[in-house]
Amino acid sequence: TDMTKQVRAEEQQKELSQQLVDVLESMGDAFFMLDKDWRVTRVNHHQEKVSETNRKDTIGKSFWEVFPATADPKSNYWIEYHKVAKTKKPSHFIEHYGPLDVWTEVNAYPTPDGGISVFFRDISQRKQAEDALKESEARLRFMAESMPQKVFTATPNGEIDYFNPQWIEFTGLAFEEMLEWGWIQLVHPDDLDENIRRWQHSIKTGEPFELEHRFLRADGQYRWHVSRAQPMRDSKGNIVRWFGSNTDIEDIRRTAAHTEELEQKTATLKEQRAQLVAINSAKDEFISLASHQLRTPATSVKQYIGMMLEGYAEEVMPTQRDFLQRAYDSNERQLNIVNDLLKVASVDAGKVKPRIEKFDLSPLIKETLEGQAAKFTEREQNVTLQATAGKWLVSADRDLLRMVLENLIDNASKYTYQGKAIKVKLLKSKGNVEISIQDEGVGVPEDKLNKLFQKFSRLDNPLSIAVGGTGLGLYWVRKIIDLHHGTITVASQEGKGSTFTVTLPMKRLV
Ligand code: ADP
Repeated sequence: TDMTKQVRAEEQQKELSQQLVDVLESMGDAFFMLDKDWRVTRVNHHQEKVSETNRKDTIGKSFWEVFPATADPKSNYWIEYHKVAKTKKPSHFIEHYGPLDVWTEVNAYPTPDGGISVFFRDISQRKQAEDALKESEARLRFMAESMPQKVFTATPNGEIDYFNPQWIEFTGLAFEEMLEWGWIQLVHPDDLDENIRRWQHSIKTGEPFELEHRFLRADGQYRWHVSRAQPMRDSKGNIVRWFGSNTDIEDIRRTAAHTEELEQKTATLKEQRAQLVAINSAKDEFISLASHQLRTPATSVKQYIGMMLEGYAEEVMPTQRDFLQRAYDSNERQLNIVNDLLKVASVDAGKVKPRIEKFDLSPLIKETLEGQAAKFTEREQNVTLQATAGKWLVSADRDLLRMVLENLIDNASKYTYQGKAIKVKLLKSKGNVEISIQDEGVGVPEDKLNKLFQKFSRLDNPLSIAVGGTGLGLYWVRKIIDLHHGTITVASQEGKGSTFTVTLPMKRLV
């Protein structure tokens, strides 16, 4: 019986050993065993496969000879295997196996006979995935750190676990002071409740977070931000992390407020302008109306005094004649003023429409000069016209242009002392005709030149009181020249004289 028992026990033992061997053989990990002299005593099928060797060639051989790459005393394999044999303690390590360019995860155990047994697996793929993950994390971090925006991440329960350096720069606080719920100390007190309420709502429901609120900057200024956060979910839909950004919109807000203010001001200005335009046109209308009303009686005064002077009502005594003549002259001045006012009113109201015709300018100028010849003689002024022979054709309204020239020539005479010269010149340049009227008169100070063409601009000069005027002539002249698409300029020197130059297009499309 004992024998039978023994045999059975031996058989059982054998069976067990066989089962063990089967397990080792079928294992997905590679396995080998070394005796105390580093000779290979056992390998499994997987070890043969990964090391591309046959057990017939390795069993009984020195491990370091069969796998010389591990024999380097600097290699982890060499170091760890010796450690296990010596300390009789297991070891777990990850090492790159050069000849096959694979990463191995190794578990080495001491054996009772002083050798070691080793299990290892190729983890190259896992390692690659881990490396890729690390790299993509590094890339993300780099992005987060190099963007101008402030960003953060939070755990599913809403605790902030990352702020990029822009946050630190903005707040002047340390990471630790802001992590988890530390950031709430930076939120403006008026925005805090709303902020916490919304954030908690998002954490509970998984709905994206968005809020405009103020954050305290290191310099003590609260600045408006728009904060947004989105949850990232795993394949089962569970939130694994929140990603958020905080954009400083203070400047944009200010610009918007500023723009609004400007728009309001512009609107007010527009309104004021409209009011001014209305007032101005009411004034123009008044002047025109009043002038019309003034002209009729003044005209009849002129007629009656004229008739008296011509002796239609008895004979006039010399003293009476003198008084009547003075009355006539004053009335004449009054009529001139009224006429000037009416001319200006009608040009302002846009009622002046030039009747353009093509004509020769030089006879017109000659006529105008002849019309004023008596005045020149009286003032002993020498007036000359310089123009080359030939025609000076312009397209213009002859009557209006005549009045313009009368006005300018009259001014030249009025503001020039007795005995001085006045020159009128005609010139052609670049498709234009230039008429210049040059006097040796009182001139205009430089700082007053821009006032000349304004309405009612009577400038003081040594002759202005003596000669009288309304200050409307040049204003009207400029308006008429504008209607002809021409220009009028003036050059003057106080005490020396002035030159007014009118430029008209030679041919103009009407
Ligand atoms: P008025 O001659 O009726 O005053 P104008 O509009 O013709 O009005 O001229 C405006 C002002 O320009 C005049 O008051 C005068 O001071 C100045 N002015 C015009 N022409 C001349 C000139 N040729 N020389 C000097 N001053 C002039």
